[in-house]
Amino acid sequence: MANWLEGKVVENRRLNDYLTSLIIDVELNGYEAGQFVRVGLPDGDSVLARPYSLVNTPEDSLLEVYFNIVEEGPLSPRLFDLKAGDDVLISDNPSGFLTVSEIPQCKHLWMIATGTGIGPFLRTRLPGHDRKDR
Ligand SMILES: Cc1cc2nc3c(=O)[nH]c(=O)nc-3n(C[C@H](O)[C@H](O)[C@H](O)COP(=O)(O)OP(=O)(O)OC[C@H]3O[C@@H](n4cnc5c(N)ncnc54)[C@H](O)[C@@H]3O)c2cc1C
Repeated sequence: MANWLEGKVVENRRLNDYLTSLIIDVELNGYEAGQFVRVGLPDGDSVLARPYSLVNTPEDSLLEVYFNIVEEGPLSPRLFDLKAGDDVLISDNPSGFLTVSEIPQCKHLWMIATGTGIGPFLRTRLPGHDRKDR
């Protein structure tokens, strides 16, 4: 069972009317590039959360998740409206097997992704947002 870490939105980097990148400041340790976390918001007495792949690498001190609005969905429209300074909850147990350590010995490696599924294959720099830069 995951515990919730309290994170802060540093930036909501809107890419278009439906697609955004949320930059989050949270103390998350021990994960591999390609894994995902659950991102949540309070919902009455519970937490409404969904999994999102991490775009950043473990060397980055801020998290980045990249997602689109699913209009009929309960969480993604709420996440899309978050602003810098807003609170967000992050699960403390990153998981997933889309990691280098899971790739078997092979001669060729094909990596195929579509839509927001490209998130874990991206690696963006977060200028001015690294704790070291502040
Ligand atoms: C391991 C894992 C990693 C994920 N990583 C990402 C990610 O990096 N970025 C991301 O945008 N989403 C990702 N998702 C999907 C994400 O968890 C949510 O389902 C999505 O953001 C919609 O949330 P919602 O609560 O608004 O709607 P939900 O109740 O979760 O979904 C409503 C409907 O929308 C469909 N749906 C889910 N995601 C999408 C989508 N991106 N586009 C269109 N339809 C969708 C669902 O299949 C469902 O039918 C991931 C899912 C899993 C299982």
